[in-house]
Amino acid sequence: MKVAMVVSEMEPFAKTGGLADVAGALPKALGSLGVDMHVFLPRYLCVKETRTGVEAGRGVTVHFIDHPGFFHRPALYGDSNGDYPDNLDRFSFFCREVFVQMNSLGIRPDLLHAHDWQSALSIVYLANRFREDPHFSRTASVFTIHNLAYQGLFPKDQFPRLDLPWSLFAIHGLEYYDRINLLKGGLIFARALTTVSPTYAREIQTREQGEGLEGVLQMRSRDLNGVLNGIDQEAWNPASDRLIPAPFDFKRLDPKEKNKEALQKEMGLPMDPKAFLIGMVTRLASQKGLDLVVEAIPRLAPLGIQLVILGSGDRAIEEALSRSAKSSKMIRLRLAFDNALAHRIYAGSDAFLMPSRYEPCGLGQMIAMRYGTIPIVRKTGGLNDTVKEEHPVEERGNGFCFEPASPEAIVEAVTRALALYRNPPKWRQLQRQVMGADFSWDRSAQEYLRLYEKLVG
Ligand code: ADP
Repeated sequence: MKVAMVVSEMEPFAKTGGLADVAGALPKALGSLGVDMHVFLPRYLCVKETRTGVEAGRGVTVHFIDHPGFFHRPALYGDSNGDYPDNLDRFSFFCREVFVQMNSLGIRPDLLHAHDWQSALSIVYLANRFREDPHFSRTASVFTIHNLAYQGLFPKDQFPRLDLPWSLFAIHGLEYYDRINLLKGGLIFARALTTVSPTYAREIQTREQGEGLEGVLQMRSRDLNGVLNGIDQEAWNPASDRLIPAPFDFKRLDPKEKNKEALQKEMGLPMDPKAFLIGMVTRLASQKGLDLVVEAIPRLAPLGIQLVILGSGDRAIEEALSRSAKSSKMIRLRLAFDNALAHRIYAGSDAFLMPSRYEPCGLGQMIAMRYGTIPIVRKTGGLNDTVKEEHPVEERGNGFCFEPASPEAIVEAVTRALALYRNPPKWRQLQRQVMGADFSWDRSAQEYLRLYEKLVG
């Protein structure tokens, strides 16, 4: 089976968030199951690879779509002033050019798999412009929602630039309250839809979390599957991680302490081995619940915890965090996107906090567990599917969960975690347990493959 994957970011070439991790790992996992994977990615300025196409593991070829005017910019989607104003032109070019390249390379995919609003037009073009094209008339399609909140909304007057008939600017097309909604195009025209966790698949069909598209998603409910993401267990492996000071594994956990000490030193925290060190690595977006952390900080600080936050994004959130970090010596903030520091935080922290208001899947909690770092999460989306409250007696569960989106709920969950941390044998046992969990891509890739096979027939 030949699959064209259209995606706007991919490890190790270009990354703003979890989508890049997925696009970096899923094709490899499918490639090793025998699928002939062709991934299409814009050639951004940050892409160091100079060839037009490269092998990225067994069965995976990555093709770069070039357009210096559109893609040779400091960032992928926008800068501190907001989204780039020509994003519709940039990503519609990208999606059209995928077909041009497939034609010139003789790639006739059995299936096209696109992700999020940036790639949604490839599905729309496939269904509307290439239905009669002998190269693509039999190509099935899958569209994956990684985050429903980002929809690619543009003013109606830009519609002609998409090179699609006006008849598609309609309720059963790309129209959304008199604007263009690219994500909606993917939801309507793909043969099958997936999203990145079973809980999120249910949540997005509700009014509360449907972001205005719950009607479309309810309509397509039977074609919508929740497939949990995995993590790249090679990239995130405490036993062989070159980015951390002291490698460790679940049999030899002691060196984790060295990582904690090094992290405390690096961040300028008191080097107290008994301090309960909580890490966060996150985009600074309202989704991630950082306002709740800001409010919780005055109540967390007296508990004697240490908190390290690595984040980048929204400037208002940066400022709010900076102000509250100044209030306590126990809080250290690094405003950056820094993959190496992220590794050191996952490895050196005792616990990892994700108080997300919504979370389609979330990778941070799974990466943390791989490093024996216990997740403290809000029960939503993929966090709900991957973290279960630790049970003090029955020893099941793998972390600490809370439901209300409130600072009090964070403080309570941290207090429960801290109580267990004060019981070192039990904490150690929990660490071993979470490190043994399987978050590899193998299982999810099998699920995608089953779906592909069903569609291709
Ligand atoms: P999202 O895709 O919503 O950003 P996920 O939890 O699915 O959230 O994935 C986030 C990924 O991006 C993880 O690999 C995380 O380590 C990484 N990441 C997020 N923020 C940063 C940052 N400031 N520096 C380095 N890595 C980050």
